[in-house]
Amino acid sequence: MQRLNATDIKYVKGVGPKRAALLSSELGIKSVGDLLRHFPAHYIDRTRMYAISSFSGEMPAVQVRGRFVSFAIQGEGAKSRLTGLFSDGTATMEVVWFRQIKKLKELYATMTDYVLFGKPTSFCGRWSMVHPEVEPPSDMHGEGSLRPVYPLTEKLRNQGVNSRVIHTMIRTVVDRIALGGVTDSMPPDILRRLGLPPLSTALRDIHCPSSPSCADMARARMKFDELFYLQLDILQYTRRRKLSVGGMRFPHIGHYFNTFYKECMPFELTGAQKRVIKEIRADMGSGRQMNRLLQGDVGSGKTLVALLCMLIALDNSTQACMMAPTEILAAQHYETISRLVAPIGINVKMLTGSTPASQRAVIHRQLEDGSLHILIGTHAVIEDNVVFRNLGFTVIDEQHRFGVAQRARIWKKNTVPPHILVMTATPIPRTLAMTVYGDLDVSVIDELPPGRKPVTTMLRFDDHRIDVYKGMGRELKAGRQAYIVYPLIKENEKVDMRSLEEGYEFVRDNFPSYRVAFVHGRMKPAEKDHQMELFATHQADILVATTVIEVGVNVPNASVMIIENAERFGLSQLHQLRGRVGRGADQSYCILMTKQNISADTRKRLQVMTSTTDGFLVAEADLKMRGPGDLEGTLQSGLAVNLKIASLASDGRLVELARNAASDILDNDPFLEKPEHVAMRREYDRMYQRASDWSRIS
Ligand code: ADP
Ligand code: MG
Repeated sequence: MQRLNATDIKYVKGVGPKRAALLSSELGIKSVGDLLRHFPAHYIDRTRMYAISSFSGEMPAVQVRGRFVSFAIQGEGAKSRLTGLFSDGTATMEVVWFRQIKKLKELYATMTDYVLFGKPTSFCGRWSMVHPEVEPPSDMHGEGSLRPVYPLTEKLRNQGVNSRVIHTMIRTVVDRIALGGVTDSMPPDILRRLGLPPLSTALRDIHCPSSPSCADMARARMKFDELFYLQLDILQYTRRRKLSVGGMRFPHIGHYFNTFYKECMPFELTGAQKRVIKEIRADMGSGRQMNRLLQGDVGSGKTLVALLCMLIALDNSTQACMMAPTEILAAQHYETISRLVAPIGINVKMLTGSTPASQRAVIHRQLEDGSLHILIGTHAVIEDNVVFRNLGFTVIDEQHRFGVAQRARIWKKNTVPPHILVMTATPIPRTLAMTVYGDLDVSVIDELPPGRKPVTTMLRFDDHRIDVYKGMGRELKAGRQAYIVYPLIKENEKVDMRSLEEGYEFVRDNFPSYRVAFVHGRMKPAEKDHQMELFATHQADILVATTVIEVGVNVPNASVMIIENAERFGLSQLHQLRGRVGRGADQSYCILMTKQNISADTRKRLQVMTSTTDGFLVAEADLKMRGPGDLEGTLQSGLAVNLKIASLASDGRLVELARNAASDILDNDPFLEKPEHVAMRREYDRMYQRASDWSRIS
């Protein structure tokens, strides 16, 4: 493979300098190796011909066999196009070209058989194909039954480089390497264990498969390679960090933990909470620094887990701090925690951007002399001027607002970096978590406290609004509270503001005997807090809001969540919003309002919400429908992922296999120094382009 990676693409038969330059600028293909790794996006089953009379709206690209009846050039200048009437005996369709018109008109003849590949589209009841691939049936020999379709750019197509041309180039190379062979960087025992084909077979079959199953095997192998090297990258990074960075050892469970556990526990821990606390304890006792992600659905009781772990830190003569993304959340944590620990004499204080200077001075002093045990706050707690005497444990709540940069700042808060627990209610499927938060260990609370009734979720159209609001009225009458949420998305702020304000007026007009609070993201923080406070203390019955309430607010008396324009929210976001209700013992309701005519896809998406309350299922569905999107982009570990064929969303099983294989390799050859791993090391360096950068520590 090394030789192929070093061979310029222009030496491949049929390429030459001009096409080589084009391939390089358009697709980044420079070497023969790059060309071989330009994998087909999918395949067309060449054994199957479609009849024009059987076309339907949702067809992918298909092939049709028939003849052109006539050609015509229509329009003028830049707007001109060539149309051909094409008949396969069952019906006719229009074939349209916007480019190379003159040349194509010369090239194609009437009364000659052609096979066309393209995606049928329907316009005013007539079928047409735009820029299909056209070829005489006789050209179809020598390929398997599956015709690969390669990712291309517009510019390449304009220059006559279509899928078929790419395939011909690749086939030349594949035929050659079949003779010479390529070095496989993957040890044969791994391949054998997983039943994956050798590299040379996979490269041949992915481009020139003789059957669908053989294409699948080849794709699995190439996906595995990508994922394997990604995992290798993440694991070596994590291991290096663990090896080089020591941690505080917390061997004791002492006074604070024990007294609290015996005397102040508000309820019995769930099995999942107990298990997670054990995992965290083991980390903190190991002598290595903990970086652990705690996932737990909304309402699963992460706060109590965090508190118990903070008490362990206190028992080992260190301080603890907890960070939340907003002032409201920080205040809520502060209140919950200071109330819970009041009987055992722990000094807890809150620090946010709006803490007055005088109080701030007290906090700074007490942090430095060690008399302040637990500090709760916003980003303010990690500012440089906040100095702890001995910070042993940090909790970060609702992790998605805190990146690796903030974590790195915490590492530096002490000579020995404190243990870090990152808590998130955004459930991420395990395989994705392993990759996206590759340097974090993961614990999961997969059980809700007993006695919770699942929220009843309904999808309702605009014309049911009256009924929906009547339902809300019944709950209010029973003394419960309700949220009404409007989307507020930046580009549309004006429109959204109007709908939010109209909603507010509608509610005030229709529910005159109830008190209505009103919050949105553009309010001053103090005003926002005031409004939230009104709702939290039941001085308001209805909260009309934007998604500022999404994260963490706890109002157990609220039993109704109405989400307007629900189609504009992502599933995970809807799930977070829904998590605001169902926190008490009574039945709660979440109503997703949408306009009348939503697409089939949108309906399917929203039906995920009505069919399950399990955050992991919602997240998984979200991932399948939208792909990992943001998550992949904001890799917490700061490691770049460049997956061309594998998908973290849909190749979960392979991610896990790749992880295990990479881990085994590093176990017995941590630096890939053994002679049998030379090719692997080279491939890794090529993919991650940082040869000899193994000492990198963030
Ligand atoms: P989240 O995981 O969303 O942060 P919280 O920690 O806010 O959840 O807990 C949600 C609610 O459940 C709180 O009111 C909390 O007091 C309660 N809770 C937590 N653990 C338990 C438990 N083991 N049994 C009963 N209620 C619990
Ligand atoms: Mg919480």
